[in-house]
Amino acid sequence: MTLVAGQEDLKALVDGLNFRQKVERSLALIRDAHEVFGDHLVAANSLGKDSMAVWHLAKRVNPAIRGFIVTTRFKPQETKDFMRSVVAQWPELQVFSNDDPIPDNLFLTDPDRCCDLLKVQPTRRAVEEMNVACWVTGLRCTEGRTRTDFQEIEERDEGLMKLNPILIWNEREVWQYLALHHVPVNPLYAQGYRSLGCAPCTRITTAPDERAGRWVGTSKCGGECGIHTRPLKTVRGEGDGI
Ligand code: SF4
Repeated sequence: MTLVAGQEDLKALVDGLNFRQKVERSLALIRDAHEVFGDHLVAANSLGKDSMAVWHLAKRVNPAIRGFIVTTRFKPQETKDFMRSVVAQWPELQVFSNDDPIPDNLFLTDPDRCCDLLKVQPTRRAVEEMNVACWVTGLRCTEGRTRTDFQEIEERDEGLMKLNPILIWNEREVWQYLALHHVPVNPLYAQGYRSLGCAPCTRITTAPDERAGRWVGTSKCGGECGIHTRPLKTVRGEGDGI
């Protein structure tokens, strides 16, 4: 597998490969990484459509591949129920959360801090406790403005590889894959959501940007919670307390 080097190549792949070629490429990326990292290759699962496609792909490569879910107290009830059914089906998915007290309405007053406490910190814990050397994500470069500069395999944290095996898939291809393989999906999509997050920070929109409904009305609108942009190797002394 020749790994792509830049955005221009990625765009050529997004437009130039057909669905079957993209699926084969994704499987090859996971297979190659699994050969290198073995049990230290772990899939992150946000319970969104992209994560469920990646989870299914990973299981095709090796059913023993482990995964983790980071959840928060603010996830919609539908997502909590979906998580229960997914974990019942795949008990090798470990669930991480930060249930410590936080200031009221922190998602309004300081959403970056809220995401750091409730999402980034539990993700760091998952990486550490599961002894992850390479984590697998459902990132796609066509999702929105903040997701255009990722690579299929990258090392943003020293010593922690990140594999984005469906980076070049578009939204339609994700749904195509999920339908063809009868992969379970979060029922919130039936209501019109296109990108799923915590209840106070996620809306249904008709904007072209897939992530436009995230953090509407804040400087984070359409942005990131931080797990793809902040260091994930445990940073001693950072983020302790409120
Ligand atoms: S998405 Fe909103 S509620 Fe969830 S952790 Fe981030 S700021 Fe807090």
